[in-house]
Amino acid sequence: MWNEVFREHQNVSPHCNGIIEWDLSMEEKWGSAWRECAKCTKCTYRSKMFNLYEEVASIKRGRRAAKINLGLQVGLHHTPISTASYRKICMASNIPPPSVSGMQHTANAISEKVEEENMRDLQRQREKIKRIKKIRGENPDVVNIQSDCVYNNAIYSGIGKTPFQPATQCAYTVAEYETYKHSIINTLPKSKLC
Ligand SMILES: [Zn+2]
Repeated sequence: MWNEVFREHQNVSPHCNGIIEWDLSMEEKWGSAWRECAKCTKCTYRSKMFNLYEEVASIKRGRRAAKINLGLQVGLHHTPISTASYRKICMASNIPPPSVSGMQHTANAISEKVEEENMRDLQRQREKIKRIKKIRGENPDVVNIQSDCVYNNAIYSGIGKTPFQPATQCAYTVAEYETYKHSIINTLPKSKLC
């Protein structure tokens, strides 16, 4: 950006010895991505707007998503924190945080893709176990597993009301018991909240 701006300023006003600086009045923030332009402190030169981020390739019409915004959401999916905590970290380190609504919008846009990719990955894990069993000369259709469920409420909360775990949310995880890795080969989350 600066190379282009310096050259253009020199062409437009060859004798100007003003300083080129950010034109903050034109600054646009889009999640964690920025659009900026530069202006001269002496003459009337003002550059075009520059996207200071990489775009995600897309065939859809309209403005293309910024890689950094999608990447942030992918990163957050790999951690136990989300919008509020991330914004707190930004503010504590003096970085302008993305808006809550903007982050939610991006999260909605990628959550389906993250889920799809995870389902594909679990499928690949199951195929791998089958291949290993075939190589071992064992029946690939019989896979030893271990599984457990985690609930959102305390185990004693339904005493006297139900013999079952009265949870509104639970996550069931299945791990193979065939290799020393005990890889997770399937998960089943359930929610009664919505
Ligand atoms: Zn100038």
